[in-house]
Amino acid sequence: MKLLKLSLFFLVFAANMAYAQKWEVGKTYTDEEKWTEFVVGDMPLIISVPHGGTTLLTDAAIRSCKGAVTVTDTRTIELAKEIEKAFLAKYHVRPFIIISNLSRKHLDQNRDLEEGTCGNESLNKTWNQFHDYIDTALAIATKKFGKAIYIDLHGHGHSKQRLELGYTLSADELRGLDKNPSKNSKLVAKSSVANLLAIDKKLDINQLLIGDNSFGTLITAAGFEAVPSKQDNAPLEEDKYFNGGYNTRRYTSEKYPNVFGWQIESNYKGVRDKAGSPLFAKSFAEVIASYLKTYLNINL
Ligand SMILES: [Zn+2]
Repeated sequence: MKLLKLSLFFLVFAANMAYAQKWEVGKTYTDEEKWTEFVVGDMPLIISVPHGGTTLLTDAAIRSCKGAVTVTDTRTIELAKEIEKAFLAKYHVRPFIIISNLSRKHLDQNRDLEEGTCGNESLNKTWNQFHDYIDTALAIATKKFGKAIYIDLHGHGHSKQRLELGYTLSADELRGLDKNPSKNSKLVAKSSVANLLAIDKKLDINQLLIGDNSFGTLITAAGFEAVPSKQDNAPLEEDKYFNGGYNTRRYTSEKYPNVFGWQIESNYKGVRDKAGSPLFAKSFAEVIASYLKTYLNINL
C-alpha cells in the first residue's frame, strides 16, 4: 500500500512537472508541418500574425471561395520577430507570438473556419492549431497577469503611410465619437477595448483611443503616424481603413473578459521594411511599456 501511494505520488508529481514544462517561456512550439508557430512569452502581450506566411503547397487548392482574399502581408512575420528582439533587449521580457507560416492562398487565419479554409477540410486541423495557440497564450497571460493585451498584426497597401488601428469600430463610428465619453456607451460595447472599460471604471473610450496616453497617440509621437490618435482622431471619408477582423473581434469578446486589444494594419515604408522594422519595433516596445504602466499598473 505504501509503495502504491508513493508511486502514485510520483505519477502525479511527474504529470504536474510535464504540465508546467509544457509551455516553456522562450521556447517555440510548432505543429508537425511547422505551418503554425507559437513563441511562449512572459508578459501580458499576445501578438498574432495571420497573413505573413509564404509557404506554398503543391497539393493544396488555392482558396477561391466567395470573398476570399489571398494577399500576403509582406514582412509582418519579420516585424513580429523584431518586436520580440526589442522587448528582450530593453526589458528582458518577450511577448507571446503566434505565427501562420502557411500562405493565405491556402488558409486565412483571420477568418472563421469556413471562409478561412474555403471548405478545404484537410486544413481544419491547421486552422484550429493557430487558434488553440492563441487561446493558450491568453490563458497563460491572464492567469499570470490578470489582464492581457491582444494585438493582431497586419500590413496594408493603402496609399496613406500610417498605422491603421482597428478597435472594431468603423471609420464612421470613429468620426462620430462624442467628446463627452459618457455619450459613447454604444461604441464602447462594440469596441475591442470593452473588456478593459468594464473592469476599470475610471477609464473611458476617448482616453484609450485618442487620449494623451493612447497607443495611437504615443506611437505617433514616437514618429509613426497612426489613426485613431490624438493627432488624427479618425479616417477621412475618402480614406481606406481597416477596422479589425475576425481575430480581433473573437479574442476581445466577452468570452475573454480579461482580454482587450486592437488590430494593427501597418504601412510598409519605415515600419515593415528592413531599415524601418528595428526602429519601429523599439518604439513599439517603449510605447507598450508605457501603456502597460498607465492602464494595467504593470512595470516591465
Ligand atoms: Zn492582413
